Amino acid sequence: MSLFDLSGRVAIVTGGNGGIGLGMAEGIAAAGATVVLAGRNATKGAAAVKQIKSAGGKAEFRNVDVTEKKSCRALIDKTAAAHGGLNILVNNAGINIRKPPDALTAAEWHSVIDTNLTSAFLCTHAAYPHMKKAGGGKVINIGSMMSIFAAGFAPAYAASKGGIVQFSRACATAWAKENIQVNSVLPGWIDTDLTKGARREVQGLHERVLARTPAGRWGNPQDFAGIAVFLSSAASDFVTGTAIPVDGGFSVQG
Ligand code: NDP
Repeated sequence: MSLFDLSGRVAIVTGGNGGIGLGMAEGIAAAGATVVLAGRNATKGAAAVKQIKSAGGKAEFRNVDVTEKKSCRALIDKTAAAHGGLNILVNNAGINIRKPPDALTAAEWHSVIDTNLTSAFLCTHAAYPHMKKAGGGKVINIGSMMSIFAAGFAPAYAASKGGIVQFSRACATAWAKENIQVNSVLPGWIDTDLTKGARREVQGLHERVLARTPAGRWGNPQDFAGIAVFLSSAASDFVTGTAIPVDGGFSVQG
């Protein structure tokens, strides 16, 4: 359907070499865009590129450390130069450090905030001139249930994910007249490398998530293909500043 057709578009997904980012990248590539998977781990990157190509998509891996301003700018500018522009940016790279506020060090705080929040600013800031030049663009920022709720073991993570929603709203407001839409996606509990450790270490977590999620299952990366295509495509041209849960109903369960 042409409303969802991304042929000729160029997309970057940070952390697109695995997990939710790869699920979104697969959707965007299947809709016709060229997708740059950006991350640190080149081995994961090569496997992810292979996966997308074997499904008939166009993908490549580029190295980035999203905590470094220079690295973010190089990723964006080199991608735009290589592919004649940039239309879609997914700020997905993220980490968590599970500790209560009293145990978290300042270095740990900065590490989480830099990776999850400042990175989105740096990449979006670098992407803006390219999107403006193209006559519009799409930015998708990845939040969390902790954009809505909090948890005692995730002070920096919750702050970063609350911040990402407000950052998205500010950009959406600033750039709506320039046809740049900026939205957040809020994943529920998704089975990825990020949550594997938590499942192992936090006793009863797996069962609690199942009991609290109306859909009765953990999410998987493929659950993010559809929302990625929608928010990247003309189908969402009048949708901006929103924060959309993709959570099997977790956030509306009373
Ligand atoms: P993964 O650990 O599978 O993916 C995280 C990705 O971020 C990796 O591909 C990693 O790439 C990349 N990354 C981390 N730090 C950096 C860095 N400094 N520079 C470049 N890339 C970096 O986890 P998920 O797929 O689960 O997480 C993706 C996003 O979804 C995150 O923002 C997370 O907070 C969010 N989320 C996840 C939930 C879940 O239940 N899984 C729930 C709510 C939100 P590399 O390996 O190359 O470092």
